Amino acid sequence: MSDQPTVEVFAEEARAFLDAHAELRVTEDKPFTWGEGDDDLSLFEEVDREAEKLQIAEAKAWRAARYDAGFGWITGPVEYGGRGLSKAHERAYASLESRYVLPKTSFFGIGLGMVAPTILAHAQPHVKARYLAPMYRGDLIGAQLFSEPGAGSDLASLTTKAERDGDEWVITGQKVWTSGAHYSDIGEVICRTDPDLPKHKGLTGFVIDMHAPGVEVRPLRQMTGGAAFNEVFFDGLRVPDDHRLGEVNGGWAVALTTLLNERAAIGAGTGAGGMGGLANAARLIEMLRHFDLDRDPLLRQELAAVYSGFQVAKWNGQRAMDKVKAGQAPGPELSGAKLSLTRNLQAVAEFAGRVLGPAMAADTDRWGTYSWSQFLCGVPGMRVAGGTDEVLKKIISEQVLGLPKDPGIDTTSPFRDLPKS
Ligand SMILES: Cc1cc2nc3c(=O)[nH]c(=O)nc-3n(C[C@H](O)[C@H](O)[C@H](O)COP(=O)(O)OP(=O)(O)OC[C@H]3O[C@@H](n4cnc5c(N)ncnc54)[C@H](O)[C@@H]3O)c2cc1C
Repeated sequence: MSDQPTVEVFAEEARAFLDAHAELRVTEDKPFTWGEGDDDLSLFEEVDREAEKLQIAEAKAWRAARYDAGFGWITGPVEYGGRGLSKAHERAYASLESRYVLPKTSFFGIGLGMVAPTILAHAQPHVKARYLAPMYRGDLIGAQLFSEPGAGSDLASLTTKAERDGDEWVITGQKVWTSGAHYSDIGEVICRTDPDLPKHKGLTGFVIDMHAPGVEVRPLRQMTGGAAFNEVFFDGLRVPDDHRLGEVNGGWAVALTTLLNERAAIGAGTGAGGMGGLANAARLIEMLRHFDLDRDPLLRQELAAVYSGFQVAKWNGQRAMDKVKAGQAPGPELSGAKLSLTRNLQAVAEFAGRVLGPAMAADTDRWGTYSWSQFLCGVPGMRVAGGTDEVLKKIISEQVLGLPKDPGIDTTSPFRDLPKS
């Protein structure tokens, strides 16, 4: 008989741990009131780097407590520090945890959502043993180093090179748009190891130490004012061969593992309909009332369209996530969910702009007006991250609608080899 706890027993354990370590969220259903509460509408959190350090320390302490109590890597293999339980156990924990007030843990999103599953799938056993438990415990944060100035959607064109030198590889080149590189301890990097092979075939993945000599991280300032991304320069970074992910020149399969997990993570995030779903509708309705525009027929019609868009996205996201929960491969619905989200965000931004006019662009110190500029400036980043709208449309046209492949300059969408659902 299995000595694993049932989901019910496990949930009791989890509840006791959460009660002892966190406050229950107050769930009073307070209606949205114009002028009250948080005015922050930014899509990307952009605290200054000193405040961010404090948040990271809090987040790390929380993950350590969670891991030490047996809830840090619920489905992970026991030999690497996981608890070896089922996805149902993990869902039970996630559902309970969402009821408590906890430190912000988005710093771990890329490392745990994308890099750790790739290490688990492709690294040597002693490398898995070295990194996975500390990642899930929050001791190590991971970054994804794929994009380059000349390789984004067409990822296979990347030129950062890794050259073999005995038992080591020497990495030279540049990555860009690396989220969280400035607080990351390790990175997953894809490099060109054979320039003579076809471009998808000459790539190799590595786990690197972000603090090693030969790694330079420089912040990138965004139009929103913050600097959540970085350029990362490699100048002779030495990486031991045992930190290679997968086979030499087998990096495309490694990259696809990461990108599949990225799509699943983005899909999970869009399941709620994005941006607080209905809470956001109340904000928009109250904005119309506040500016005495709630009888304007065109704005009313536009608001109804925005609301419907979010509702449909929410249901579609739920359908996609149910499929994942049922153990099926994440499929093109997740690309569809992300596309709907970005279209909806764009529609909200345009609606707010029509209502607010110049108050959206000039800071007049009035609640609920200029704060929309942060939202508006964040939308393009959302449209690009995790596959641009255009690339997602290509995937939907080819994989969902069965249209002929895009003749384009080449057919190197990073998702082209993903399984059809
Ligand atoms: C918020 C955010 C976070 C990110 N975090 C990371 C990270 O942590 N690590 C990382 O490696 N990268 C990261 N990126 C980079 C991201 O993966 C790339 O920006 C993305 O892959 C697009 O590449 P690109 O910017 O080079 O644009 P390009 O690929 O050059 O695209 C430029 C334009 O051409 C269009 N286009 C390209 N190909 C086609 C085609 N075949 N058909 C039609 N149109 C096409 C695109 O849709 C886009 O409008 C992040 C980006 C953002 C915005």
